[in-house]
Amino acid sequence: MRRVVVAGGGIGGLAAAAFLARSGVEVSVHEQAPEFGEIGAGLVVAPNLVRLLRRLGLADRLAESAVRLEVGWEFRRWQDGSVLFAQDLARSAALYGEDTWVVHRADLLELLRSAVPPEALHLGRRVTGVEQDGAGVRLQFADGTAVDGDVAIAADGIHSVLRAAVATPGPARYSGLCAWRSLVPAEAAPELARRPVQTLWLGPGRHLVHYPVSGGRLVNLVAFTPAGDFDVESWESRGRVEDLAAEFAGWDSRLEALIAGAGEVGRWALLDRDPIRTWTAGRLALLGDAAHPMFPFFAQGAGQAVEDAAALAVCLAEPGASVPQALARYEAVRVPRAARVQVASRGRQGHHHLPDGPEQRARDASFAGDDPLAHNDWLYSHDAEAAARRA
Ligand SMILES: Cc1cc2nc3c(=O)[nH]c(=O)nc-3n(C[C@H](O)[C@H](O)[C@H](O)COP(=O)(O)OP(=O)(O)OC[C@H]3O[C@@H](n4cnc5c(N)ncnc54)[C@H](O)[C@@H]3O)c2cc1C
Repeated sequence: MRRVVVAGGGIGGLAAAAFLARSGVEVSVHEQAPEFGEIGAGLVVAPNLVRLLRRLGLADRLAESAVRLEVGWEFRRWQDGSVLFAQDLARSAALYGEDTWVVHRADLLELLRSAVPPEALHLGRRVTGVEQDGAGVRLQFADGTAVDGDVAIAADGIHSVLRAAVATPGPARYSGLCAWRSLVPAEAAPELARRPVQTLWLGPGRHLVHYPVSGGRLVNLVAFTPAGDFDVESWESRGRVEDLAAEFAGWDSRLEALIAGAGEVGRWALLDRDPIRTWTAGRLALLGDAAHPMFPFFAQGAGQAVEDAAALAVCLAEPGASVPQALARYEAVRVPRAARVQVASRGRQGHHHLPDGPEQRARDASFAGDDPLAHNDWLYSHDAEAAARRA
């Protein structure tokens, strides 16, 4: 039996462990944090991700903590809230077999963790390096210890220390934008923001997104604005409500009310990387943000990480395939898809932030001509396990 060692116990690392354990592969996950905490806020769980959670037996439990969206991608104009585009999700289950949900990141992490054998999880283990030869691979930890396996997975996020063993080293790309995030108690949010709708307000140079999470008790608010000289990239970095409010002064007054309801506000600089063609080196494979960090504008960071995990498990569980063959197949099936989502997500920066004027009017006119659900068909209809089996 193959032993797989995973660096990082975020959404990608836990999903990899869950899919590998389901396939009968021996797996261990090594996460630097001393415990699984409550960090993060809302995540969209689109049909391509729900489909995979269902295979892990987690879809019913998702419904307990998440909110099922009735409308996705409801774009509104910044000044007056007029609806530019709305994706009615009533047909989603008929088209894709699944609905779209919104969930707190901590709830999704907990769901995935419940699908991993407890003895496979190791907390407080910071990976510092990897070495390998023909016989095996070794992850080294900051405390001087190490773990051996046949395959190592780098699921250690956008600042992955293991990525340098596969790709040209270098820092992530700074977008010039920052993200502001808050969880607003539902009772403090305007009625518009309590609807089961993913709403995006588009305006010159910035946009703001909101949807309910945690069974509707909270409204997830995330806004993207020019970062100025702010370049702190940390989920724990904080901003001020009054500064966020100033960024959206003059916008529809319902947004003013929503921002006024925010208590704590997180603020961090937004980074991504260019797509790369190689995700594997010998016995090491990149997965999730370590391979393809992307802007959140398509809400697919978690979805693509879990797709990677499902595909990798199919490839590694294939009887008779050597480790290099399995990883080559994983790379061949995942690189083009993740790169497409990365590029599309980056493209939305310009699209969402057009100044008032002819280009913006042309964008809004093109929204009107689009079939809102078919628009993202390429994302939602994808079955990552089936694609890996076909590869
Ligand atoms: C704290 C945090 C909060 C987030 N909140 C949101 C959110 O609210 N909404 C949203 O859309 N996206 C959020 N994201 C991003 C989203 O979760 C990821 O884009 C996506 O799920 C991809 O997951 P990943 O597992 O590849 O990477 P990540 O989710 O970044 O997970 C990487 C994991 O690896 C661990 N790690 C890093 N370096 C090492 C090391 N050297 N040794 C061992 N472990 C290591 C990290 O502690 C982390 O647990 C958040 C990410 C983080 C880390």
